[in-house]
Amino acid sequence: MSNSSLVQYRRLIGNCSSRQGNKIDRIVIHHCAGVLSLETLGNVLLRRTGSCTYGIGSDGRIGQYVDESMRPWTTSSWEIDKRAITIEVSNSENGGSWPVSDYVMRRLIELVTDICKRNGIKKLYFDGTKAGSNLHMHKWYASTACPGPYLGAKFPYIVEQVNKKLAGSDTPAADVLYRVQVGAFKEKANAQALEKKLKADGYSTYLVNVGGLWKVQTGAFKIKSNANNTAAILKAAGYDVYVTTASNGSSAESFKVGDQVVPVNLVNTSGVRLTQYDNVYYISEINGDKAVLQAERSGKRITWAEMYLKDIKKA
Ligand SMILES: [Zn+2]
Repeated sequence: MSNSSLVQYRRLIGNCSSRQGNKIDRIVIHHCAGVLSLETLGNVLLRRTGSCTYGIGSDGRIGQYVDESMRPWTTSSWEIDKRAITIEVSNSENGGSWPVSDYVMRRLIELVTDICKRNGIKKLYFDGTKAGSNLHMHKWYASTACPGPYLGAKFPYIVEQVNKKLAGSDTPAADVLYRVQVGAFKEKANAQALEKKLKADGYSTYLVNVGGLWKVQTGAFKIKSNANNTAAILKAAGYDVYVTTASNGSSAESFKVGDQVVPVNLVNTSGVRLTQYDNVYYISEINGDKAVLQAERSGKRITWAEMYLKDIKKA
């Protein structure tokens, strides 16, 4: 019996009991029905005289409230909680379909994968029934809407992603591609006019919309020097250019996994303000125009936040 090394915040709150020898072979994903930090979630659980094994805050941090060896009090049922790890997931908005941010979703998939690996759960199953699933819903056990429409509809996706990771068939991050950005416009028509001109000159073009601006790019290049050469030619022809990675077009810098970076705008990809505790962060993952940043604390790298590339710079 162990606990997840993904945990960034540990607050054991009690409100748990013995599993009485039952093996962990189920996972129950709940939603918080609120946009909560890990700290607030802990308070809410105490107020309800409840608990959960893990929680994921609205900023994507992973917290632990009950040791995996203990039965959490989360799903209003001895039958399921005695054999389950339970996870409370913060929403990104209150009400509606009770959505969850993409970053929190990715953290959830990481956490569930880790739980499966350590507890010998070889594969995750979900067919919408108790008997045919080892990923369960709170609403199967109590009169509640938990995990809410958004998260509930994501169960098949979560199962698919976790199983891919468990099978080791996770596709590696694509190589960094460089593009040359030639212009950025508020009006799409202006961007299209530039595209037309470039096409006539034999360039392949991409039109991307980033932060409300239409950006015209050409490329892509696997080798940065080739992108630089093209940029030089276009510059000589009078274009205002710079080299960027992939399609994000929002940053003059190109980043890769392992780069040391610092935030220039302290906000995560969900729009939540961040507090910077470390002088420098390391990129552990790049997804399009977003990067997952890790901090090094006591010689260990822990995930800190997901940020847009435009909000960070190289250290
Ligand atoms: Zn629930």
